[in-house]
Amino acid sequence: MSDTIERIKCLIIGSGPAGYTAAIYAARADLKPVMYTGMEPGGQLTTTTEVDNFPGYPEGIDGPTMMVQLQQQAERFGTEVRIGMVTAVDFSDETGGIHKLTVDNSTQIEAETVIISTGATAKYLGLPSEQKLRGGGVSACAVCDGFFYKGQDVAIVGGGDTAAEEATYLANICNKVTMLVRKDEMKASKAMQHRVTSTKNIDLRYNTEVDEVLGDMVVEGLRMKNNQTGEKETIDITGLFIAIGHKPNTDIFKGQLKMDDTGYLITEGKSTKTTKPGVFASGDVQDKEYRQAVTAAGTGCMAALDAERYLVSIDSVEEINTPMY
Ligand SMILES: Cc1cc2nc3c(=O)[nH]c(=O)nc-3n(C[C@H](O)[C@H](O)[C@H](O)COP(=O)(O)OP(=O)(O)OC[C@H]3O[C@@H](n4cnc5c(N)ncnc54)[C@H](O)[C@@H]3O)c2cc1C
Repeated sequence: MSDTIERIKCLIIGSGPAGYTAAIYAARADLKPVMYTGMEPGGQLTTTTEVDNFPGYPEGIDGPTMMVQLQQQAERFGTEVRIGMVTAVDFSDETGGIHKLTVDNSTQIEAETVIISTGATAKYLGLPSEQKLRGGGVSACAVCDGFFYKGQDVAIVGGGDTAAEEATYLANICNKVTMLVRKDEMKASKAMQHRVTSTKNIDLRYNTEVDEVLGDMVVEGLRMKNNQTGEKETIDITGLFIAIGHKPNTDIFKGQLKMDDTGYLITEGKSTKTTKPGVFASGDVQDKEYRQAVTAAGTGCMAALDAERYLVSIDSVEEINTPMY
């Protein structure tokens, strides 16, 4: 085994739409990108069946197939895709010189630029019946999957701003939306609460939790439980949306990069620059607002362009500082 530490020009962490789009652009710009896929190769879209809203697929496409195609496109231009998890980073070189990373707790690598595309993980309730029907009517993304339940009865779980926004979004498309809020009040802002309570086809239930999601292959109903009285009620639904939050995958960057109070990476202005020179962030890891494949891909493109411009600017400084003999 060699003692030499591998030096990579452009390292991409994460293999969702943001990471692969960054890889396509970086490879075509000859940055020789290396990508580490993490434990979910292909990212969140591999957990869904139908993607209907990504431009360029008039008939829609299933998530895993779309991600295989993105990988093939990135590899066509020379991206090296490696299975592995980045487990630690050291971005302490304030000049932005070299960034140190550890893969799978053992391999040390160095990178001139790093594109972070580690995404975010949707939170679920954890009930076995919910897990069994993920992709069969249980979804964590109303904007992505609401359309499939047009004119039907659905339910949504959550009491925050996102849940309130998604409930009103669904109410526009669906026949009826039953909204389950665990507490006796919503966490959402007053304005969002007002939107929910003034929407006629939202049936708001406080102190109510999911007891069981019903159905074998697809969602057919929901058994709800009032956590004050213990009373149970069953309703017929075809879709259940879980809107109890997302966790950005940023634990390894704590203390290294600036984050907001919920752990999302903060980028500078309209760029993908993080607080460390040469380190860029794209996709859901820096976006709690839109969280879509196409927006993730868009910022992946931006991150690769930002990385390329950064490398050019470093080279120019080196050229100026190199004495001419
Ligand atoms: C059920 C569901 C359905 C959806 N449907 C749609 C849809 O129809 N249309 C749409 O536009 N959007 C949809 N979305 C949203 C969409 O999936 C996300 O917005 C998008 O995947 C975000 O892309 P990303 O590249 O930022 O991150 P992700 O897709 O979250 O990928 C993150 C990647 O980072 C990797 N990773 C994490 N930590 C590490 C690490 N330490 N080292 C190495 N790798 C790491 C993971 O393995 C993964 O590959 C859906 C989401 C869900 C949950």
